[in-house]
Amino acid sequence: MYSLYLYPWDAAGSQMAGVLGRIAAAGINTVKVAAIYHTGKILLTANSSARVRFPEDGAVYFRPFSEEWHNLALKPPISRLCATGDPLAEICAEAPRHGLAVGAWVVCLHNRAITAARPDVSTVNAYGDRYPHSLCPMQPEVRQYLRGMVQELAGRPLRNIVLEAAGFVPFRHYSYVQVEGVEVGDWENLLLSLCFCEACVRELPGMMKVRALVRAELDEFLRTGLPRNPAQAADALKPVLSARTNAITDLVRLMSETAARGGKRLSVIASGGPADVLTGIDLAKIGRYSAAVDFAYYDAANAALDGQLAAVCAAIPPSCMTDLLLRPGFPDARSAEDIGDKLSIGRKIGLANFSFYNYGLLPAQAWEWMKQAIAESR
Ligand SMILES: [Zn+2]
Repeated sequence: MYSLYLYPWDAAGSQMAGVLGRIAAAGINTVKVAAIYHTGKILLTANSSARVRFPEDGAVYFRPFSEEWHNLALKPPISRLCATGDPLAEICAEAPRHGLAVGAWVVCLHNRAITAARPDVSTVNAYGDRYPHSLCPMQPEVRQYLRGMVQELAGRPLRNIVLEAAGFVPFRHYSYVQVEGVEVGDWENLLLSLCFCEACVRELPGMMKVRALVRAELDEFLRTGLPRNPAQAADALKPVLSARTNAITDLVRLMSETAARGGKRLSVIASGGPADVLTGIDLAKIGRYSAAVDFAYYDAANAALDGQLAAVCAAIPPSCMTDLLLRPGFPDARSAEDIGDKLSIGRKIGLANFSFYNYGLLPAQAWEWMKQAIAESR
């Protein structure tokens, strides 16, 4: 099975039937359509009506209809694209005519529109600085919002609900120009990513002591600019990191049970290793509540793919499928063979599901490479 990620604006209005027909003709079975998305500056190759797009920040691309949604304390804005219709519903209605299923692609904890209205539910670091790009998943209202989002979507004719940013959203993040006068390594990024909001202090073990430790470590790093040896402090953080992972697992469980009541299943996008302490996404744990993991391998070289895929497949339980998520064009592929080689590595390890990112970013040439790789891989 092959899936393709799709922005709703690339299949809006009169272009919808043509776009979905083109996707189906390339051998794709499912489109994963953004139901909510963040802003950015996106250079679109496949959409001749708009070449550069600045999407509305944190907006949803469907018209919510449930009473529960309207009662949520936190709600993202509704996109201007919904003024004249319901892009997600319209794609769901048209897709079966082309033999396509639809997944709803949901960006969960990265939402600056919600934190602009409610800064108190954002992540706050050991110094008290708030991160507008990052909703804290320990906040009860954030959890209720995500549950409400899944409930709203579960009533629609979807194959599945695909979660992006389902774990803690780190300090270092693509949504900003990173301006740093010191070299922030993995350890410092982790320390700067830990949240000390009221909910985290209340729910996670020993957070007052942890905050003092994190501040001491960061103070020294910011004074010297030299990397720290995490050995001693890392031990002290273990209970907190473990509790954060359990909280993310529980959030995925909550969303999974909500989706199941509407007959829907979850997929979770993951790009870290099998157990990522930075986000709290542990594939062995969330795999119990998720039907699939979309494992993003965004790399031109194939050298690490075999090992990483084997580790992911070994970690997740047999009931959860691994879907290999690839970029079939720039900067990862320059030919159909480049894509075909990755598909072959996936197939050798036993994978049957592959996803590509994403329709609006692919030039015609890369489209042909993807199509050829799919045809030759069958
Ligand atoms: Zn928090």
